[in-house]
Amino acid sequence: MFNNCSLYFEKTEVDILNQYEEFVKEYISPFTKKMEDTEQIDKDYWYRLGEHRYLGPIIDKKYGGLGGSVALFAEMTRILSKQSGSFGLAYDIHAGLASYMISKYGSEKQKEAILPEMASGKKVVAFAMSEEQAGSDISGIKTEAYNDGNLYHIYGKKIFTSNAINADLFLTVAKVKGTENSMTLFIIENDPETVKIVERMNMIGLKALFVGTEEFKDVVLKNGSIIGNIGDGTKIALSALDIARIGVAAQAVGIGEAAFEYAYKYAKERRQFNNTISEIRTISDYFAEMYTNLHTARITYLDAAKKIETNEKTISASVAKIYCTEKCKKVVDTAMQIVGGRSYLLNNSLQRYMRDIKITEIYEGTNEIQKYIIFNQLKKLLG
Ligand SMILES: Cc1cc2nc3c(=O)[nH]c(=O)nc-3n(C[C@H](O)[C@H](O)[C@H](O)COP(=O)(O)OP(=O)(O)OC[C@H]3O[C@@H](n4cnc5c(N)ncnc54)[C@H](O)[C@@H]3O)c2cc1C
Repeated sequence: MFNNCSLYFEKTEVDILNQYEEFVKEYISPFTKKMEDTEQIDKDYWYRLGEHRYLGPIIDKKYGGLGGSVALFAEMTRILSKQSGSFGLAYDIHAGLASYMISKYGSEKQKEAILPEMASGKKVVAFAMSEEQAGSDISGIKTEAYNDGNLYHIYGKKIFTSNAINADLFLTVAKVKGTENSMTLFIIENDPETVKIVERMNMIGLKALFVGTEEFKDVVLKNGSIIGNIGDGTKIALSALDIARIGVAAQAVGIGEAAFEYAYKYAKERRQFNNTISEIRTISDYFAEMYTNLHTARITYLDAAKKIETNEKTISASVAKIYCTEKCKKVVDTAMQIVGGRSYLLNNSLQRYMRDIKITEIYEGTNEIQKYIIFNQLKKLLG
């Protein structure tokens, strides 16, 4: 029912998406409840996806990826998020944000060393930018790197790092001591000697996702651990966040679709006043509204994905993030209304969708920040 966007894809990508959807249904979906209950995404599930290169949708084929478009990545995020919002975010960061950073800004040596391992799941990558005083405003970053004349050493504390427990590598932003415009993107290996995961943040939703706080204590970096040049950190992070935001938009649509399907099945069975509630006009209107929101939201993020190489990239990604997350939160809310009192019980998935969807309006740049970005981009485009 939601598989009608093939005009956005080449035939090869349609085939990949069909196979991937079947794969996720068979090998991921049966285990998502267990992931939520045990509050972990076992690495085995990463390897399963990696076996088919599903972890490298935008990684070039010559580095072992699928060599697909950003739209392909977004659809794969939606399909996974429909089963697990938690996995959806971890995927967004690894297969979207991190893959893009290394593919676009990494050196040939970095690409050859890291991208094949990312596509196959042998290395899982997390993104550690946020800090206590650096949320929306990353100029507040305090993590520092200094050069001892030979190697870089990093000290600092990061918060809100998604998938920290599974990460083999962290892409992190730190200020290089003694330089102006010093924000720089580093690749850090997750070595328990120097990277200490201090705590797991206790969240209301995305329960399977380990979101951690970690301390970097004299992480000594090998040569070749900087992505781009010193001072490129902000530029690279902002550029890659456009991709991650399209992923979050797709994640919200995936969760919204799951809520729609749950409510639809329920409404076709639930009887009141001698009829199924789906036949009540108000309820059928709700379904039409939900479908309209899901459909337009999906087209909005696919449009943003198609604009990734144009000068409308940033504005389109921000529009998609706001539109999809707000509309799909409304979809989940309406689905709960349709199901009525039972939607409020802990034994159904709607309450999980509600807990999971809220954060899509906040992470990868809050929706308020997206409005700020949109207006700044408008000024650039319109003068
Ligand atoms: C589940 C989860 C996963 C996350 N994963 C990661 C991750 O993997 N890596 C990572 O680095 N971070 C991650 N984050 C952090 C997330 O990106 C930040 O929470 C987010 O960017 C907002 O920062 P903040 O929470 O510090 O809010 P603040 O920046 O303190 O904002 C608070 C409020 O003020 C508003 N505000 C602030 N500045 C402005 C402004 N200029 N104009 C208008 N409104 C403004 C905000 O919109 C918001 O409403 C994650 C967070 C969560 C909860």
